[in-house]
Amino acid sequence: MNKTGDKLTEYHYRAELLNRLMQLPYEAKLELTKTVIRHALTHAKKACVSISGGKDSTVLLHIVRSVKYIPAIHINTGVEYPETETYIKQIPDVTVIKPPLTFFEVVKKYGLPRTSRCNTTPQCCIKLKHLPIKQYLTNFKPFSCLLFVGLIGSEGRHRRFNFIRRGFIYAHKEWQCYKATPLIHWTSEDIWRYIEEHEIPLNPAYYKYQLDRIGCIVCTGYKDWEKVMSVAHPKLYKQIKKLQQYKNSHQATQQNTKK
Ligand code: SF4
Repeated sequence: MNKTGDKLTEYHYRAELLNRLMQLPYEAKLELTKTVIRHALTHAKKACVSISGGKDSTVLLHIVRSVKYIPAIHINTGVEYPETETYIKQIPDVTVIKPPLTFFEVVKKYGLPRTSRCNTTPQCCIKLKHLPIKQYLTNFKPFSCLLFVGLIGSEGRHRRFNFIRRGFIYAHKEWQCYKATPLIHWTSEDIWRYIEEHEIPLNPAYYKYQLDRIGCIVCTGYKDWEKVMSVAHPKLYKQIKKLQQYKNSHQATQQNTKK
């Protein structure tokens, strides 16, 4: 078989493997997660958990710290829910990283995150989250650091595809570190079960604004963003709407000029 054929076979094998792992009983998933964590910790001297203030990374931090107590990092995009900021402050040993650009500087240049499902990462995520982490990692020798990330497989195709391409633990060439996703075979139901069983206090923003996910207040990258943002932060909502209208009319003018 040629190289392309080999790769395809491997992709199919890993896709099937993830499928089966996602169907394991909860207890077996938890055991596997701990095994992945232990194994990942052997890859690098320094390790930390990336936390957003959302439930998945909160659960991951709890499990990782039950195996070994390590620090956490959190990227504050400058447009976080105030509840998220307070919640993060209550967690011990968290380094808060702030991006050099503001959300509005980024979206004025590159546009707002799109609601429709597309495979490209929004520029605000790249500029406000990815680049600051990459910059933070330059404080360490290349590949001396391991980053745990709380991605779960039921949250989207591209997350599962990441596992299919790279597995639970992999060397991230661009960031020059190791990354591990020990919850990739979990579903939202598993996360809720763990939270209940361990009585983990969650970010109050979930209850206050009836959120399914925690991100930036001004995020327009999901279906119900208008409903949520208009209640959570009416002032920012107006700003975003204005920006949206400006961008739309700007695009329309550009298209007319081209005709
Ligand atoms: S959560 Fe939304 S607004 Fe925040 S960086 Fe990601 S895509 Fe952009």
